[in-house]
Amino acid sequence: MLVDYHIHTKLCGHARGDMEEYVREAIRKGFDEIGFSDHLPLLNKVDPYLTMGWDQFPRYVEEVNRLAWKYSDTIRIRLGVEADYMPGLEDELGQMLERYDFDYVYGSVHNIGDWGFDDSREKDRWESCDVTKTYQEYFDLVKRAVRSGLFDILAHLDLVKKFGYRPEEDHSPLVDQTLDVIAETGTAVELNTSGLRKPVGEVYPDLKAVEGCIERGIPLTFGSDAHRPEEVGLHIPEYIEKLQTLGLKGIALFSKRGRRDAPLEELPRTCVTQGYNDRTVRLTLSERERIRKSAEFDRAFEEGKKIYGDNLGLVWRQNDLEVSRLGVVVTRNIRKATRRNRWKRLLREAFRQNKMRIKEGVDLVLIARSEAIPSFSEVEAEFLRLSQRAGILEGDGPVR
Ligand code: ZN
Ligand code: FE
Ligand code: FE
Ligand code: ZN
Repeated sequence: MLVDYHIHTKLCGHARGDMEEYVREAIRKGFDEIGFSDHLPLLNKVDPYLTMGWDQFPRYVEEVNRLAWKYSDTIRIRLGVEADYMPGLEDELGQMLERYDFDYVYGSVHNIGDWGFDDSREKDRWESCDVTKTYQEYFDLVKRAVRSGLFDILAHLDLVKKFGYRPEEDHSPLVDQTLDVIAETGTAVELNTSGLRKPVGEVYPDLKAVEGCIERGIPLTFGSDAHRPEEVGLHIPEYIEKLQTLGLKGIALFSKRGRRDAPLEELPRTCVTQGYNDRTVRLTLSERERIRKSAEFDRAFEEGKKIYGDNLGLVWRQNDLEVSRLGVVVTRNIRKATRRNRWKRLLREAFRQNKMRIKEGVDLVLIARSEAIPSFSEVEAEFLRLSQRAGILEGDGPVR
């Protein structure tokens, strides 16, 4: 299963080659699925060297769709975008992202304040800056980006190392904290091979962080960050092989901003995408997918079946609706409001991330039981195990 979700086009002003050449290169290299993810126009300034203008954006979308259609027998082509995270502009960005039917949205941090720290035109500032502080500021921004909930995939997680400047002291706690936030929010992380072509000479993020992702069950995708056709898919096949020895099993695929984890082993394309393409679901929870009224909770408890795991309980019953709905309950012995809220968020997130795998027309109530709060991946795994036991999963059940 070869995937490259990070491909630019000459529309951004610093890449070259026709979009169709990128596609042909991906086919030549045997890729199963690719996505264009050109830079979204910036919200705070116009810079023709960084992004296309808003007037060009519809053309970009049209061209991706045209190529997806034209090559649909040969390769799957997704419509993505790489959006800059800028603190304070979350609402504006959210609105712009709503306007198009993206398959996925990459979140990137390319700026610290007014400094485009990865821009070769502004490289000199590295000589005079406080590198330790810069790393702290960078990872703070990444955490805020992830918490904003605007992005499906975090791009080049440790881009700050691009020019090879590193703090003297070990900065891995910063990375670990960032990974914890990522895991909590269910965001995917991109394994970006473009760092190999940059002064730093290594992938983003480094292998230690990749192991941290695998340990935490963070969904992973691959991107070459190609800015010219010959860079499409570069180093990805070798890298996947290497990561398999580290325990990587799945790869996150996206369609209409819904995520699905596919096994990494080679599978016929139809098999990998089955039940995914024909039923894509937006990964937000709408009002009609939530149970809030106490009468509805009562009904679930009275008529439903119940099973328990170590940390969670699951109650389910068939409803007469076309959607499945979720209610969350935290047992009384968990007193602290912050704890109760965090539990509720985790439960909702576990459902949200996996709702395309739940059968239609089921009311579920998830019950948080343990005082200690598990990680998101533990909650998700237990939720899927319980759902499988309950027989409410579509198809063949949990991938991990
Ligand atoms: Zn670029
Ligand atoms: Fe980028
Ligand atoms: Fe990029
Ligand atoms: Zn990028």
